[in-house]
Order: sequence, then C-alpha cells, then structure tokens
Amino acid sequence: MGVIDEVKQRTDIVEVVGQYATLTKAGRTFRALCPFHSEKHASFFVYPEQQSWHCFGACNTGGDVFSFIMKKQGIDFGDALRLLAQRAGVVIPSRFEPEAGGEEKQRLFQINQAAAQYFHNLLLNSSDGEKARNYLASRGFSAKTIADFQLGFSLNSWEALKEYLMERGYTDGELLTAGLVVEAEGGKSHDRFRNRLIFPIFDTQGRIAGFGARVLDDSLPKYVNSPQTPIFDKSGILYGIDKAKSAIRQQEMAVIVEGYMDVITAHQSGFDNVVASMGTSVTEKQVSTLKKLTGNMALALDADAAGEEAMLRGVAHENALGAEVKVVIMPGGRDPDDVIKEDTQVWQKLLEDAIPVVDYTFNMVTSELDLSRARDKRLAVDKLLPIIDGMKDIVRKAHYLQKLARLVEVSEKNLEAELARNKSGRVRHRAGEPKPEAVADALHPLMSSSLEEYSLALLLQHPELKGSGQELSPGYFENSENREIFVAWQKTDDLSSLKKELDIAIHEHLERLLAKSIINTQIEQKYNFCTLRLQEEFYKSLERKRQAIFALEVETKGTGADVARLKEEGIEPSVQLGEVFAQQGQRRSGIKGVRNELGKQK
Ligand SMILES: [Zn+2]
Repeated sequence: MGVIDEVKQRTDIVEVVGQYATLTKAGRTFRALCPFHSEKHASFFVYPEQQSWHCFGACNTGGDVFSFIMKKQGIDFGDALRLLAQRAGVVIPSRFEPEAGGEEKQRLFQINQAAAQYFHNLLLNSSDGEKARNYLASRGFSAKTIADFQLGFSLNSWEALKEYLMERGYTDGELLTAGLVVEAEGGKSHDRFRNRLIFPIFDTQGRIAGFGARVLDDSLPKYVNSPQTPIFDKSGILYGIDKAKSAIRQQEMAVIVEGYMDVITAHQSGFDNVVASMGTSVTEKQVSTLKKLTGNMALALDADAAGEEAMLRGVAHENALGAEVKVVIMPGGRDPDDVIKEDTQVWQKLLEDAIPVVDYTFNMVTSELDLSRARDKRLAVDKLLPIIDGMKDIVRKAHYLQKLARLVEVSEKNLEAELARNKSGRVRHRAGEPKPEAVADALHPLMSSSLEEYSLALLLQHPELKGSGQELSPGYFENSENREIFVAWQKTDDLSSLKKELDIAIHEHLERLLAKSIINTQIEQKYNFCTLRLQEEFYKSLERKRQAIFALEVETKGTGADVARLKEEGIEPSVQLGEVFAQQGQRRSGIKGVRNELGKQK
C-alpha cells in the first residue's frame, strides 16, 4: 500500500473537518456552516461513508480529506499529505521529503532568520533606526504591519551584521553563501546591506529566503537585493506569497504588483491576495507558483515601456500555462501603493475593471495603427495572429480569431487558412473505427479497478490524447492525488516537466499509473468511454450526496423550508443528472454496444 492510501485509511474526515467547522450529525451525514464561504444556512456536508465533503452553497464543490486541508490551509498536496501523515502517525519515507539532504539550506534559512531578527530589533529599538521608523510612519505603516512583515534596519556600518552573526557561530563562508556579506579586495568581506530599510523575503512556506533593502534618502541604487543563493531563486520568488496564499486560494485571484511597498500597503488595507514580482517582468516560474493556487491573475504593473513588455510576457504565460491573466490599468503612472492609500474604493474599482491581457494587447497594438489602411491591417495580423495561434483553449482561440477578423475586415476563414499554412506537417492522427467487442475486452479492467486511475493511466500513456483530454474537468477526479496528477498533466507537455510540476510525494502514485497495463488498441474509443463514465460517476456521486440530504430533510420534522431553499438553489435530485444524460445522449449512443458488453461481463 502506498503512503497516500495509508494516510487515507488512518484518517477520518469527520475528525479532520471537525477541527475547522462545527459539525452536526444529520442522518448518515454531518452538516455545518461552510468553512470556506460565509452563509446563514448550513449547506456544507461531510459523508463519512465516502470519506468526502461537499458544499452545495456558493462553493459548489467538494472532494476528499486532502482537498479539504489544501483549501482550508492554502497549501499544496505534498504539504497536506505531510500534515495528515504526521497527524495519523504515518511515517513518510525520506525519499518523499522535499529537498532531501538540505542541511546546508536549513543552515542558510537559520542565518537569514537570525539576520532578520537583528535588523528588526535595530529598526524597533536603536537610535540609528529612528529615521527608518519615521519613514515607515510617514508611509502609514502600523506597528502590526511592521511586525508581520518583520521589517528591519541595517546600520551604516561595514561589519556590524557580520560581527553579530559570527559571534553566534556562523562562518564568513556561510555568510557569503547566504549573500549577507560581499567579497571585497584582499579576500576580505563586508556587509551587503548598509544604512537601509530591510524587507525580509519569505518563501511560500514562510521561511526567509533573502532580503530586499531600500535607501532612506535619494542615494542610488534605491534598492539592493540578495543575490541568487541556494535558497533564494530571484526569478521564482514572489514577495508576500506566504501571507497571500490563503487569500489567493479563497478569492481565486492573485494580484501581481511590482514593489514591496505596494504589497505591504495592500495587505494593511485588507487586500490580502497581493504579491510582488520584484521586477518589471513576471517570470514563468512565478506564474507557475501562482498557478498552484489559482488560474486567475491580474497584473497591476507600471504602464511604461518596461511594463508593456511585461504585459506581452503575460500573454505568453497565459498561453503556455493556461492561466487567465488580466491587466489592471493604473491611472496616469501611479502605483498601487499611492492609489490604495488614497482611496481603497478606487483600487477596488480598478481591480474590477481589469481587462484580459489579450484584449489589452489588441488595444495596444491597434492603437498605433490606422486600420483603414491595408499595410496596417497586415501589421496587426502579423502581431496578433501568432498570439492567437499560441492559445490552447479552442473557445478562446475562436473568440479572438473572430475579434481580429472583425478588426481587419478579413474573414475568419482566411485567417484560419493563414494559421494552417504556418504550421504544415502537424497533422493529427485519427484512429480507425474499432469493433465494439475488442473495446469491451480491453475495458474489462475498468470494471474492477478504479475508473479514475484507469482513465488517468490512459491519458498518461497516450500523449496523442492531449488535445481531447483538455476537455475533462479536474472535478471528475475525486481523489486528490489523481486530481493533482490530472491538473499537472493538463499544463505540461512531457513526462519530465510533469514530474517537476508534481510534489515528490505523488511520484510513487504516478509511477504506478504509468506502469498500469493498458492494451494498446482503440485508444480513442477507450478514451471516449472513460470520459462518459467519469462524468456519469461524478454526477451519480453528487446525486447520492444530494439524496442523503433530501432523505434527511424529509425525515426530520422540519418545516420543509430547507428543502424549498435547496430547490431554489437548483439542488434538486435527478434533474441535473437527467440533463447531463440528455446532453450526452448522442455521444452515448455511439458506444452503447460497448457499454452493453461491459454490463454483461460485470
Ligand atoms: Zn461553501
């Protein structure tokens, strides 16, 4: 048995959820006010028999104990697994621990922690720190904010920090590796941060990975940051991510700003889902970190030249990673820090008015052109068509193709033809028509083993299903480990990047799926069958959950008000399932024969 299964077996979802919500036993279920959204009537249910949960209210989602902890704590699958394993007393083999052998890294985190405390203490208590205190007060930062972000101050000295840390047993070499000192002539070293306001930069797990430092006067450079170190990856880290991750998950939106001040002001004003890129360009690594929390992002960057380049990169990220990126248009060269301080409602409005990055790009490109002229139409197509070509989602692709067609007054067909000309040789292979009996034979394992796992194994082992597989919903996979793998599969192109995307704790499960034996025939039929069965199972499971509630409402002497309310919200047994089947009717009839065969075998 794998570690994931063992943890599941030894964990009772009722106990776990009970730590975060007040559960009331209700028939075969437990009921509570949803711990993820605020509500007056309890629409959150826990199902001990299935070891699952579901919110029929605003969340309209559910899952297993892992997804509950992930959502509640704002952590990823690996961390949820480690947390639940510890709780259940399951020892996770060390090969599943991230950064095995990371003693050097642990030591570097310790050094940074010690340095941060030193800087923080100087800011709060030293006489030299007074100008920094005044500066922060003038920016309107509260004592709580300064403590939360562990802001600090470095003395105007070459060796103050170095001496302090070496007295505590850290070596010159370690300080150099941590980037806290710089090498000077003659092999000597001195403090990197002098006479500056200090911003510790925390990683996703809340450890101090590096520092940013700002001058308090007009001297240059205005900002100095830690260099690249074994624990500080400048291109991947986001300032404020440790404090923003829960809010990002909950609000399903990450707002990306440029600087430290923007983040701190935003958080102090209650906008907790804000992080900073710490540079004008948002990197792919940063987007991919955020993508683990939400697919929706808004860029609130300076609209200067560098900003525009950053926006274009936003398009690239959106296309490459399947994130939905919007642009917050800042009025007249102002930054979020100023805007939020002046009026939080203006900021809120700017966020609401954010426009999709592709539309923004369309505006940018066409604003410089005169689209009544043939030459400018050509330019617009040359610039915008490649962006459309990069889109993976066919609906989005069609939408923007239409938009471009209207703009340049060229038919969509002609634009499509141009796209097709640009990529000759990429012809999609179609499998021949199979015989139902053979499919049924091959599908036999499906009836005994888990449908989710079979479907995933099929996708993993057959890259040609990549295109069709995008249409499946992650929600069809109720087991978090399967859902994790599916979501990672959707956004990666090969096995090695898939593995990189996944927490190491799931690798064992992934290997098992890759090793699953699937007879290598009629793959497309098998895929179609799996799709239908997954949908069917999804809705059936939902239906079972609903019925458990309805049975309950009828049993209890209640006035029926709850039943009426559930019905109002569209939670009515059978209707939705019926609709799904009706919609799927055509596709279902296509493989009816296969299903009958399987029914007999069962
Ligand atoms: Zn809810």
